[in-house]
Amino acid sequence: MRIILFGAPGVGKGTQAKILSSKLNIPHISTGDILRSAIEKKTHLGIEAKKLMDKGELVPDEIMVGIIRDTLKEERSKNGFILDGFPRTVAQAKELDRLLTELNMNPKKIVAVTTDEKEIIKRLTNRKACKNCNYILPLDEIKDNSCPNCGAKDSLYQRSDDKEEVIKKRLEIFNSTTKPVLDYYNENDKVIYVEGTGKIEEISERILSKLT
Ligand SMILES: [Zn+2]
Repeated sequence: MRIILFGAPGVGKGTQAKILSSKLNIPHISTGDILRSAIEKKTHLGIEAKKLMDKGELVPDEIMVGIIRDTLKEERSKNGFILDGFPRTVAQAKELDRLLTELNMNPKKIVAVTTDEKEIIKRLTNRKACKNCNYILPLDEIKDNSCPNCGAKDSLYQRSDDKEEVIKKRLEIFNSTTKPVLDYYNENDKVIYVEGTGKIEEISERILSKLT
């Protein structure tokens, strides 16, 4: 099964991708991770990408598509994959379609984990992180501001990412950039929308039941 996964900030898309990957026995291809790995392995495209990133420039679509092509051609992607983090624009979606056709990797399933903005804002603003180990926990589980994971004292703080206005801005950017991509997919493939509220396991069950 080939899946392209979309999800708003805060819905736990990465976690869902990992669960799906182990339940369906297909690799989780996170474009952020494969870019980092191409840079570490110093592949031709990795070197090109690093040069641009060092100059503070964005990695252009051709390079990202090249890196995705390399990954999809690997043996592990033969029986399917979960692509996470790409495409982010309609132009990238078109590039990806061309690539999948070239590699004879159709059809695919488009999954979008949706959310209630109020719930996301509530969840993300009601948590703190540990300065020492980056562990994240909800406010109602905090006893004396010490970290239950590493034991550091007075180490919990609200990340600047978790401030309400920052979350609102991220949701706004996500909605305005992702909506056209989903509209594009809706023209040919049917986008599978899954409600992303509730417990992690409930959300994965919901996704799996819609996929099979
Ligand atoms: Zn800690």
